[in-house]
Amino acid sequence: MKQTVDLLIRHALIITQDDARRVIEDGALAVRGNQIAALGATAEIDLAFTAARTIDATGKALFPGLLNIHTHLFQSAVKGLGEDMAVEQWVQAVTFPTAAAMNAEEAYLLAMVSCLENLRSGATTVMDFNYALRDPALHTAVIQAMVDSGLRGRYTRTIVDNGAPMGFPPALCQPAEEALAHAQTLQHDHAGAGDGRLDIGLAIGVIWGVTEQGLRATRRVADATGMTITMHVNESPYDNVAAQQLWGRNTIAMLAETGVLGPDFIAVHCVHMTDADIDLFKQHAVSVAYNAVSNMYLGSGIAPIVRMADLGLTIGLATDGSGSNNCQDMLETLKFSALLQKVGRMDASCVLAQGTLDWATRGGAHALGLAEQIGSLRVGKKADFFLVDPFTPKAIPVHDPVATLVYSAGQSNVETVVVDGRVLMEGRQFVHLDEAQLLRDAQRAAQALAARAGTERLLARRGKWRPI
Ligand SMILES: [Zn+2]
Repeated sequence: MKQTVDLLIRHALIITQDDARRVIEDGALAVRGNQIAALGATAEIDLAFTAARTIDATGKALFPGLLNIHTHLFQSAVKGLGEDMAVEQWVQAVTFPTAAAMNAEEAYLLAMVSCLENLRSGATTVMDFNYALRDPALHTAVIQAMVDSGLRGRYTRTIVDNGAPMGFPPALCQPAEEALAHAQTLQHDHAGAGDGRLDIGLAIGVIWGVTEQGLRATRRVADATGMTITMHVNESPYDNVAAQQLWGRNTIAMLAETGVLGPDFIAVHCVHMTDADIDLFKQHAVSVAYNAVSNMYLGSGIAPIVRMADLGLTIGLATDGSGSNNCQDMLETLKFSALLQKVGRMDASCVLAQGTLDWATRGGAHALGLAEQIGSLRVGKKADFFLVDPFTPKAIPVHDPVATLVYSAGQSNVETVVVDGRVLMEGRQFVHLDEAQLLRDAQRAAQALAARAGTERLLARRGKWRPI
């Protein structure tokens, strides 16, 4: 007697990313509800299971969904605005005025654009790092976009309680107690949204935007609520300059002293790191979100990722917001993450395609504390995966499917995406929403927002795009 499952993928080359990095040729994967019910050779799975729906994946490879562990989903708004600036200049001229002028409808549409591109590039889990926006509607709009997109995700809400002296606009800072109370409200109201796909976390903007009391209070709330903490750390040398001015010590030493570091702390960027910094991360089992494209885009430098990985730190990959990347393409991120390390160390063998994929799957899942649920394919884990159809000139021929994914594949090769057992994209088309309409609406919203925020003037010498 065969068991009935909801979805059966047959005849795929399955890259499990399990502990043994098992690859199953002519493999099948059975999904019941939102979980993987079985995986193995198609011939064996066929004997045991019958399915309500079957997808023939002949000629395709099946990968566990990628994790994009750091982005600012609303930043689609500023793609192509204010390129060629260093980070401190860029936040003042572009992202702060945009975030301060944005309304909830714009936040929803622009976050949705980011979500869809994540899915199109194989990312099934995203951690958003939303700014310390005072208007609660701007938070719920992004949460709603995450839920509607079908992604799995963690929405984090930023604490900036010392922004004014550093030039943060008033709409983007508030007392820590107020921000933390709002984060707890979000957790109460939205954790578990989207059939359990969404949870809520805490974010600290940057060391030069927070008080010592704010740092300590954030740790207290994290301990009391189980929310993780993420923070931009040492993206540029200015972090340590500011921390020295404020407290007479470097950023990471200050984070250690105030109790902020821990296994639930996800440090973003970590470009400018001393040996003592890395030691502190190791002592506190901190995870690192590596944003290769953003680090190149803003000229931030090359993070010592291979060194930190060799010392046993958990590494996950991320795009950062589209403002400092100009897209949310996780496949491009796979490639640049590997290439930038090779350049930095002048050593082509310092990171392998397999290691890069490990960062984007297992590493990201571990960083978010979700390693028991996602990051690899095994029975009982969540059914988050995507199918790659390599038959485009960019990706063919395939010899090693992992090398193909990391170095050759593009969004046009991502053919089917399943999150939480739900088929969101099939035949390169989203099945649960009207993508074309959404993109047109988002284009109009972004232009209206740029006019209102005054960022449009950055385009003074160029032609204006006329939306259709
Ligand atoms: Zn960021």
